[in-house]
Amino acid sequence: MKQRTAIFPGSFDPFTIGHLSIAERGIKLFDRLIIAIGINDHKQASLPEQQRIETISNAVRHLPGVEVIAYRGLTVDVCRQYDAEFILRGIRSVTDYEYEMNMADINRRISGIETVVLYTLPEYAYVSSSVVRELQRYGQDVGQFLP
Ligand code: ADP
Repeated sequence: MKQRTAIFPGSFDPFTIGHLSIAERGIKLFDRLIIAIGINDHKQASLPEQQRIETISNAVRHLPGVEVIAYRGLTVDVCRQYDAEFILRGIRSVTDYEYEMNMADINRRISGIETVVLYTLPEYAYVSSSVVRELQRYGQDVGQFLP
């Protein structure tokens, strides 16, 4: 039988316990899950690319079938490259919902690739990379939000 492969794309700047939870729950649905860090050369990320890959790889060490890559360009092109038929995403709120629905529609339209979304566990609903970055900027310890 054909392997079921999904791409879990995101900025992951940084990769939080919310992201980890989606990866842990997501790998139960697929044979192979590729966490794909979207690199935007116009945006300054907190860590260099290789270090971001290593940090996330460490966080998902305990999950067989989960891999980590970095990419530039369209998510659907990465899907084709890895023969992935699905995109995995997470939803925390109505705001996420509207954005994710729009992205899912566009991606299906241009490639036929289906997006599978998982609702966040309620205990992670408030965790976001942007809030973690904001707290870090003001010297707050953010360890509790990171894997
Ligand atoms: P992007 O910039 O592509 O939205 P993010 O790194 O912010 O990338 O998020 C990647 C995916 O993870 C998105 O689908 C987002 O909704 C989801 N996500 C982020 N934080 C959480 C969380 N705490 N719980 C569940 N899903 C989350």
